[in-house]
Amino acid sequence: MEFEKVLRENFDRIFKEVEYVKKTYNALEDFGFNDDNSIASVCVCRDEISQTIRSIIKHIWGEAFDFSSLAGMFTAGKTGLKAAMHHAPRTGGKERYVFYVIPHTAINEDGKTGFCKRRGIKEESSACGALCLFLDELYTGKLLIRIDEEDIEESLLKRRLIKEITYGDIPSLLELTKITRKVIQEDLEQALEKVVDTTKSDYAVLTGIQIHAPDANYIWPADSYVVIDGRKQELKIE
Ligand SMILES: [Zn+2]
Repeated sequence: MEFEKVLRENFDRIFKEVEYVKKTYNALEDFGFNDDNSIASVCVCRDEISQTIRSIIKHIWGEAFDFSSLAGMFTAGKTGLKAAMHHAPRTGGKERYVFYVIPHTAINEDGKTGFCKRRGIKEESSACGALCLFLDELYTGKLLIRIDEEDIEESLLKRRLIKEITYGDIPSLLELTKITRKVIQEDLEQALEKVVDTTKSDYAVLTGIQIHAPDANYIWPADSYVVIDGRKQELKIE
């Protein structure tokens, strides 16, 4: 199948969503995290087809704090982050936070990226729509980056992502999705650096990309690590 080829070419390993969340849970258990002593949070796109991963995280970790905005950009900032942290269980003098950062994309039967099927709609639909819109503006050379008060999230997304793209370059949708994942991770990390007290908190950052394929939703795991007693250790999700 064409989509399998495109998946293989662009993502070195993928897991079905349930399998992915179980693997991350098991990996974190080795570092003392579990569904009793930790609070999970998610940063995914608002798109309803992205919510499957949120439902599975909720099922395995309990209700998760929601940082999500269009394309999964981290716009909740220090205030959002502090709120999630204040809601963490306090067990044995420790708080534990688990952050899932997972923007999304799609691959259709023919291996075309950015296209997916939706319930009750005959024509193909796009995912991530917010990123496709930004790409359209790049292609047409009509990028609007002023803050549109009637379109705050999309404006913020464009302003943030344009900083990561070399002037004149137009990335492919998959490249842009990978850039987006990196940007969300960096913005979250910047806020974490300012608000987390690692003497009393351990945390995990699990990033990846959610791919809507014709047969299932998959997760490609990217940078993943734990910070225990202030010491960072990479996690291998495989
Ligand atoms: Zn989206």
